[in-house]
Amino acid sequence: MKRLAINGGKQAVRGKLPSIRDKSGREIGDEELRLVTEVVKSGTLSFLYGEKVKKFEADFASLYGVKYAVATSSGTAALHTAVNFINVNPGDEIITSAITDMGTVIAILCQNAIPIFADVDLDTQTIDPEDIKRKITDRTKAIIVVHLYGHPCGMDPIMQIAKEKQLAVVEDCAQALLTEYKGEKAGTIGNVGCFSFQQSKHITTGDGGIVITNNDEAFGKKLRLCADKGWPRQLYRDHLFLAPNYHMTELQAAVGIAQLTKLKRAVDSRRKNVALLTSLIKDVKDIVLPVEKSWAFHTYLYYCIRVNTNEFEVTTSDLAKALTSEGIEAYPGYLPYPIYRYDLLQKTYGTSECPYSCSKYGKRSGYNEGLCPNAERICKETLFLSWNEKYTEDNIQDIATGIRKVAEYYHK
Ligand SMILES: *Cc1c(COP(=O)(O)O)cnc(C)c1O
Repeated sequence: MKRLAINGGKQAVRGKLPSIRDKSGREIGDEELRLVTEVVKSGTLSFLYGEKVKKFEADFASLYGVKYAVATSSGTAALHTAVNFINVNPGDEIITSAITDMGTVIAILCQNAIPIFADVDLDTQTIDPEDIKRKITDRTKAIIVVHLYGHPCGMDPIMQIAKEKQLAVVEDCAQALLTEYKGEKAGTIGNVGCFSFQQSKHITTGDGGIVITNNDEAFGKKLRLCADKGWPRQLYRDHLFLAPNYHMTELQAAVGIAQLTKLKRAVDSRRKNVALLTSLIKDVKDIVLPVEKSWAFHTYLYYCIRVNTNEFEVTTSDLAKALTSEGIEAYPGYLPYPIYRYDLLQKTYGTSECPYSCSKYGKRSGYNEGLCPNAERICKETLFLSWNEKYTEDNIQDIATGIRKVAEYYHK
């Protein structure tokens, strides 16, 4: 058996893998520079007077075939804008996935709504429609689905439930640029779609986000107000309801316009790389490789492996450490435990226990262990690998060698 790098052996990865942290794994170059230079030279950095945010929004809306797109300062801002847009009241319940980025949950809490967590499907790790049904109460107002890692949620049953119970559906597409469900783009199936352009996503503006909707005109216009202090920007200063300032700047949008033209190529390359890696390690024992359901177009922001931990001498935490020593950035789980187990869920506003303790709600939060068994199991069994469109064939061969070496070494 080959000596692991963690025990002083030779590292599986020759050189360094491309990374989302810098230009090794990001496609940022002349076109971004040219557009940013235009903005700087113009002296107009705000969306109010410039053309770049308008163009970025128009390009995105056209790519997605939707009527309205509002660019925001982050994915979290996009989600909060969406939660504001769908008219939830303080104390309303919003059902979301037990495995997601905290941005999804922050968006709910910042509108004083109550996050309720549904369990996930073991194969795709996306929200389980059956558990959504079980979690619905007379206070449920909306569902935020999360297309995790780039794989879409099973939208037909979710939209069916939403229709029956008259719930709004927000799609968190922060990890799912160009993801499709049955040939339809994720983000255009529910009422609102939210995206992120943070540094680690498919394309980036450093930080940034966008919200899209196909709602009717009256509603569509409201979307911008939700990211612009409720300000209709007519003759005088007016503020129609409570909303933060979540504008994207012209500088971000300049980068975004150029990045958007590279998105399809990035997704194609990520898919090709995944297919190659999967073909190289599919015979490794007791690991489950990422699935793409027959109805899905997976865009692979990450490559997540589920480990049959009973068959290994060590935990996913040790496996991740060994892989990282081989030059393959890996983590035990996307999250170490489901999102409802984080302290932030309890410690929201000072010591107040708001919004749970508010008179509009008045229940203690019940985010206890055992709430979502699949999610709890997945967090213990998942090996999370960062992924990149700039991996070469040699890189993929090395990743395969590293995974095989580590898995065989620690297998019982
Ligand atoms: C990244 C991410 C967010 C938050 O986006 P930011 O731009 O980091 O605020 C929300 N949801 C999911 C699923 C994400 O991956």
